[in-house]
Amino acid sequence: MTDLHLPNSQLPDLHLPELDADCSRCAALCCVAYPFAETEDFAILKDTDTPCPNLSETCFDCRIHQGLSQQGFGGCVAYSCAGAGQRVTQHLFDGETWRDDPDLLQHMTHALRVVRPIHEALLILREALLLPLPDPVRQHCAGLINTLAVADATSIWDFEEGEVQDALASVPEFVATLAPYVAHRR
Ligand code: SF4
Repeated sequence: MTDLHLPNSQLPDLHLPELDADCSRCAALCCVAYPFAETEDFAILKDTDTPCPNLSETCFDCRIHQGLSQQGFGGCVAYSCAGAGQRVTQHLFDGETWRDDPDLLQHMTHALRVVRPIHEALLILREALLLPLPDPVRQHCAGLINTLAVADATSIWDFEEGEVQDALASVPEFVATLAPYVAHRR
């Protein structure tokens, strides 16, 4: 968790999870979890919960990492898990991987699909706190962050709680209310 010290002393410090991807502490979950449609972003078709054929068979490295765009995998370059991959692998599965135990595969990929949108929302809300927000709006934003951070999570069920999912669902509407403050900053 990263402490976010806010300029408004009336707000508690927020404890954010890591929101930058660290593939070295992940089990290549993004290379397994998501399907590929054959488009300009992905050169092949791939099903959900299927390891990409470009993934090394002995480790979690991409065999074409240096030439992703040139070989038709620009979608991989554009993708970020916002830190969800290492959180799922290290915190929710204690560093175990689907290679160690294939029965974990679908549990880990499901967890990635649940945690990633929450971390993406946290990235947006962290940016929002840099805007010149009135105190009530700032408080609301901080409340959403604290709910979505799920700081004491021990299993994926903690992220699937109604309170967390309701907060996640409310983020687009909240962000839409911030337009006047974005304009003010310009
Ligand atoms: S091309 Fe490489 S980075 Fe993209 S999904 Fe496959 S293994 Fe992962």
